[in-house]
Amino acid sequence: MNRSGVFDQLDAGGHEQVVWGADPATGLRAIVAIHSTALGPALGGTRFRAYADEDEALSDVLRLSRGMTYKAALAGLDLGGGKAVILGEPGALRSEPLLRAYGRFIHSLAGRYITAEDVGTEQADMDLLRQETPFVTGVSELLGGSGDPSPATALGLVHALHAVSEHQWGSPSLDGRQVLVLGAGKVGSALVGHLVATGAKVSVADIQPARVDAMVARHGASAVSVEEALTLDTDVLAPCALGGILDATTIPHLGCRVVCGSANNQLGEPADAARLADRGIVYAPDYVVSAGGIINIAEELAGYDRDRATAKLTRIRLTTAQVLADAARLGTTTVEAADRLAERRLAAAR
Ligand code: NAD
Repeated sequence: MNRSGVFDQLDAGGHEQVVWGADPATGLRAIVAIHSTALGPALGGTRFRAYADEDEALSDVLRLSRGMTYKAALAGLDLGGGKAVILGEPGALRSEPLLRAYGRFIHSLAGRYITAEDVGTEQADMDLLRQETPFVTGVSELLGGSGDPSPATALGLVHALHAVSEHQWGSPSLDGRQVLVLGAGKVGSALVGHLVATGAKVSVADIQPARVDAMVARHGASAVSVEEALTLDTDVLAPCALGGILDATTIPHLGCRVVCGSANNQLGEPADAARLADRGIVYAPDYVVSAGGIINIAEELAGYDRDRATAKLTRIRLTTAQVLADAARLGTTTVEAADRLAERRLAAAR
């Protein structure tokens, strides 16, 4: 295939390095993109996915690794941004020899890239990689790891919501606030529990009715259909399912005053940040408020301690507050304010 233009892509995104790894015996084809090591080793998950072609895989790994640089910088971590993709259908291709070959590939980068779980990979895969390399996080607690990051992500969202509430309504209290949690999976269900405990009035929507029923039974949340979720009149919409839900079609009809949730890449395109601002809706950028998971796994690098990791989640409240205040003061979108904050930290490190 035509590989000309790869350096142009790296220059355009500001990437440091891209490494291709293959092991014909097991079918491994992987790409690691290291966007930045300005703040430290590049941390980011391994996505295992059947891409249409190599170009699509390369675009994805470049885009995702750049996002990780900003996420880590905003989380206050001494880590850079990286990401990896394994090309292929995980159900068909996953095998111990393939993962071990991938682990040796990661190891050959000598710690410039540290991997973790992402779409298509799971904790058991990370445990297997650990047999070949120490440069892997998100391993199971039995191996000294931090386990499932979702509870930390949910707690980080609560900190972010306190900051948003203070900015928007003059008080950090969530008592009596209406919050709609869209997606009651690992993060969303933990979030519902925290919110109910703070006195918020919580409603839940999910394409899996059993998950909604569980939230109603366990926490007394109200059930909302997925169809009416985006237009429901509510103080806060917390997207905790899929990304790409805020776009030119949905934004004019949103019924919320604030968007603050964990779903990755909530905006359909960059212009959607301005569309939300024009409607007077406060958007707390997903890569700021969903940093609990990365803060939690980063603690593994220093020897995991749950209390220390939990204490560090409070940073998300400070960063969210700063991003919202900067955007208001500078007259920018919250996404521009977040990017500026990250870029300032990166520039200082360089
Ligand atoms: P999950 O798969 O456990 O839960 C997702 C939930 O969303 C499921 O209950 C699913 O039924 C529901 N859902 C899917 N499509 C939906 C739709 N169209 N409408 C309503 N509900 C729908 O995932 P998770 O780990 O809870 O992560 C949720 C989001 O947060 C994802 O976008 C993920 O990338 C992001 N995120 C997760 C973490 C983490 O620590 N798990 C960290 C950062 C970001």
